[in-house]
Amino acid sequence: MPHPNDPTLRSFIDVDATSDFPIQNLPYGVFSSNGRASRVGVAIGDHVLDLCELEQAGRLDVGDPGVFARPTLNAFMALGPTVWSRTRARISELLRHDHPELRDNSELRARALLSMADVKLHLPFQVAGYTDFYSSKEHAANVGVMFRGKDNALQPNWLHMPIGYNGRASTVVVSGTKVRRPRGQLKPPGAEVPSFGPCKRLDFELEMGFVVGQPSKMGEMLTEKQAAEMIFGFMILNDWSARDIQQWEYVPLGPFQAKAFATSISPWIVTREALEPFRMHGPAQNPAPLPYLKQHLPNNYDMQLDVSLRAAGMNEAMRICRTNFKYMYWSSVQQLMHHASSGCAMNIGDILGSGTISGPDKNSRGSLLEISWNGTEPVELPGGAKRTFLEDGDSLVMRGWCQGDGYRVGFGEVEGTILPAE
Ligand code: MN
Repeated sequence: MPHPNDPTLRSFIDVDATSDFPIQNLPYGVFSSNGRASRVGVAIGDHVLDLCELEQAGRLDVGDPGVFARPTLNAFMALGPTVWSRTRARISELLRHDHPELRDNSELRARALLSMADVKLHLPFQVAGYTDFYSSKEHAANVGVMFRGKDNALQPNWLHMPIGYNGRASTVVVSGTKVRRPRGQLKPPGAEVPSFGPCKRLDFELEMGFVVGQPSKMGEMLTEKQAAEMIFGFMILNDWSARDIQQWEYVPLGPFQAKAFATSISPWIVTREALEPFRMHGPAQNPAPLPYLKQHLPNNYDMQLDVSLRAAGMNEAMRICRTNFKYMYWSSVQQLMHHASSGCAMNIGDILGSGTISGPDKNSRGSLLEISWNGTEPVELPGGAKRTFLEDGDSLVMRGWCQGDGYRVGFGEVEGTILPAE
């Protein structure tokens, strides 16, 4: 049987070369539709494959009946990497153009394949915890220069460990969920006392997140191999941020309410296995990380990312950032090793966010804070409107994909539109 990542594979379903979801991808999500309660599916081209239907028809057996009839991926993730891999191989076989089992069964095809346009996508797993990192050197340096000057851009700890904070799992939402402008304590420069009101410096952060698919025990450290095998898959993540709230509250314990009001993720989880062909070494790490953080494998990914903004009244979105996940200084595997290193237990459904992904040049900045250089260099939109931070009615879309030879393994998008504060 060919490997599911084989670039020559084709499905009997027509998939455009620019589609995010060719047979080499097969990302998992949770969907509902007319008459179907939330369940697990796989994206293929413009279609969703209903795994619940395949299981009930006796065509897909993962040893845990009903696991795809649940409204989250958590129970499937709990089955572990051997089952993840076997399941993906079987789904790939069922979708291949030269495999008749599903292709020639019109009755099953009619039940198991739905048009993407006819389904509603949901948060794909129950979020157990959410931790956000700060692992792009370019982003950390940009922010450092802005607030502390060139000579102290990176804090002394930054090159020695992935810096992070514990975020909120309760407000992680799926793409398409509207985001209400947060309120909070503000103390702009020059004000003598703080006031409470709507955030005036609302921002996005372009990030990748990954979901932990296997638990670790409290008190246990992780090797590089163990950490890698615990990662179920990746999604695009928008870590909405209230810069003015953050600036006043973050001393000395770090961000709190400025990040707690919403985090948006893309609905399809692209498996770690599907991203294998796009793995590469990250930037050289100097000084060498401490032994518990050493990595020997290429743990970065060549993944293209872009961000577009559409203000209310604009016909088309305007691209405001184009960058790549490969620039990240600390890898996802290192973030997970570091997180567990104190003895912290990791749970199925934990999200770890990469931190804002900025690249080396001006067009590759992953937040408005950097794009507008703390509000001093506004972005001009078609029609003449300007943006330093997000306004009510603005819609933000992030996309990501890995480019193969004649196909791409993509993530779809994460979209969010800003509602006025209540
Ligand atoms: Mn962040």
